[in-house]
Amino acid sequence: MNTKEIIELGDKYLMHNVGRIPLAPVRGEGALIWDADGKEYLDFVSGIAVNSLGHCHPEVVGAIYRQAKKLIHCSNLYYIEPQVLLAKLLAENTGMDKAFFCNSGAEANEAAIKLARKHAKLKYGPGKVEIITAWQSFHGRTLATITATGQLKYQQGFEPLPGGFRYVPFNDLSAMEQAVSPATCAVMLEPVQGEGGVNVASRYYLEGVKMLCRENGALLIFDEVQTGIGRTGRFLACQHYEMTPDIITLAKALGGGFPIGAMLAASDIASTFQPGDHASTFGGNPLACAAALAAVEEILVGGVVQNAAAEGAYMYDKLVGLAGKYDYVKEVRGLGLLLGIELAIEGKGIVNGCQEQGLLINCVNNNVLRFIPPLTVTRQDVDRTIGILEEVMDRFK
Ligand SMILES: *Cc1c(COP(=O)(O)O)cnc(C)c1O
Repeated sequence: MNTKEIIELGDKYLMHNVGRIPLAPVRGEGALIWDADGKEYLDFVSGIAVNSLGHCHPEVVGAIYRQAKKLIHCSNLYYIEPQVLLAKLLAENTGMDKAFFCNSGAEANEAAIKLARKHAKLKYGPGKVEIITAWQSFHGRTLATITATGQLKYQQGFEPLPGGFRYVPFNDLSAMEQAVSPATCAVMLEPVQGEGGVNVASRYYLEGVKMLCRENGALLIFDEVQTGIGRTGRFLACQHYEMTPDIITLAKALGGGFPIGAMLAASDIASTFQPGDHASTFGGNPLACAAALAAVEEILVGGVVQNAAAEGAYMYDKLVGLAGKYDYVKEVRGLGLLLGIELAIEGKGIVNGCQEQGLLINCVNNNVLRFIPPLTVTRQDVDRTIGILEEVMDRFK
């Protein structure tokens, strides 16, 4: 099928639940992706920070192929070899002890919310139920996670929402100080807000929040669904801050492109969950875990995290250089290969212009261009991106 035919069928048979771009990718390799008409693009969207090893990395493809021939699915009533190996690998690299596996970021956060609530109930009795999150955060699309998400646009129309959530401005420690109380069950934050505009938490803020959690018997949950698995130039973003929270959630890049999520916790908190408390039919299935094992091992040992740090720093400098040329650029920010340019104009025109020139980027909050290339991106890929970006941004002067 060509692009036109795919779009026609999609418009006829798919729910219009996202504003789709008229592009139909059919094949990918490394940082490149091709549409149904054969046009090539440099992919700096990476399936929204999913394809951290690029498209169809041979280690991930091989692991999926070998596992698919052996065992695709079996129930979590049994022990699953790739699942226990993945749990061990994540424990060894995150400072957490135990894992629960699911299929997405929203499910990982949903599990974290359930664990935190039950933990508070068992340890402190009823009433300690409030979960504090940040404005501009993003935690997923289930009812509980849109409620955790501090952006009204994701909540409107879906009321009644679950209770027990409140919001504070991000990076504002005194606001957090006023919000946290003995009724606080947990604080959930992204170390770098991705969907909310690439906002990096300060060390002062996160350390202060951790202290407040301590003092009030509240758990600290880091949503590293977007920032985790090497994206920011460390395996976890919280490692930039030398911080270990009580619960960490992961998804996006975890499976090297295959759907999988994880909720990790310290053992004294994880032990809150007793048999029957939480489960997922597909969560942690053999195929997803084999893909994730291959992806995480490659990211850890293949120099991928170091590459993300090096190319991220290089690209950041290049973007800052570019920003100086345009009055309409407000700020360049980010960490590792999660980078953003805040504009004083809408970003849509630049995104479209780049796409025409064979570069995929996206825009969050209407005015923040976001760059989330594969962590394996080369210097030439970055230079090519900067070249295209400059050419397109010149048109908006
Ligand atoms: C993408 C994202 C989620 C939701 O993940 P899904 O897999 O889409 O459910 C949650 N938190 C953060 C920080 C994310 O970036």
